[in-house]
Amino acid sequence: MKTKQKFLYETSNQYWLNDLGLKPDFPIIIAGPCAVESYQITIKTALILKKMGINILRGGAYKPRTSPYSFQGLEEKGLDILKTARKKSGIKIVTELVDAALYEKVAEVADIIQIGSRNAQNFSLLKRVGKGKKPVLLKRGMMNTVEEFLMSAEYILSQGNGKVILCERGVRTFDNTLRNTLDVGAIAVLKSKTNLPVIVDPSHASGVKNYVLPLALAGMAAGAQGVIVEVHPEPDKALCDGKQSLNINEFSVLYNKIVEFYSFNKCKHQITNMYNYN
Ligand code: PEP
Ligand code: MN
Repeated sequence: MKTKQKFLYETSNQYWLNDLGLKPDFPIIIAGPCAVESYQITIKTALILKKMGINILRGGAYKPRTSPYSFQGLEEKGLDILKTARKKSGIKIVTELVDAALYEKVAEVADIIQIGSRNAQNFSLLKRVGKGKKPVLLKRGMMNTVEEFLMSAEYILSQGNGKVILCERGVRTFDNTLRNTLDVGAIAVLKSKTNLPVIVDPSHASGVKNYVLPLALAGMAAGAQGVIVEVHPEPDKALCDGKQSLNINEFSVLYNKIVEFYSFNKCKHQITNMYNYN
């Protein structure tokens, strides 16, 4: 690693995951629709997921879409819906921040603030979440090297916020069979270079629901300590990323497999030590 990294190595403790209802002996599992679409769908999903034992709901109120003509999210109304879902179900919320000026508004609702792939090198945004107290879920930029990804994390950490979860969500390569190419090697490297939690996003990596489970397990096998997965009660009707969204039954299969795999790996190899190459 050429670049100086002052803080990545100092962040050794993951105590703060407890505040999110996450336990060290259980995988991090975040699930929910791509976007917040309505009160009804969001609250229904939150209640079902919470009942299944999921502690964190995902859902974008602000959606940074490639096309300006695609659904952009419900914005402030979306935040209100997430607030209600949080209150009614007790589930915690991860939602995306796309503009530093919206930090206070988003932080009022979010338990974790997501920085999406398209903003992974938006340095003023990274500095803003670094100055805040909320945990940050940082996605890898779709064209970023591992070193650039680590430097994005370093932007946040260097401002004083050590609560960062790294998320590998696939990168753009010559092959367009799937939406992106999941870089499992990067997961293994991230685990060896930092002490931050690393999770995998098999939904955006694959773009197709049939491949979500194998990519989730591949990420876990490479050392990810959890997943973020798109789940929608009726994927065919989703306003955003329906093709890669699992319905509740499909998600329940994935959930059980992830838990099974995690505990198998943990008791067999003591996962926390297994990936210590430093
Ligand atoms: C998302 O999680 O909704 C999303 C847009 O993902 P990414 O930033 O990884 O494309
Ligand atoms: Mn999505």
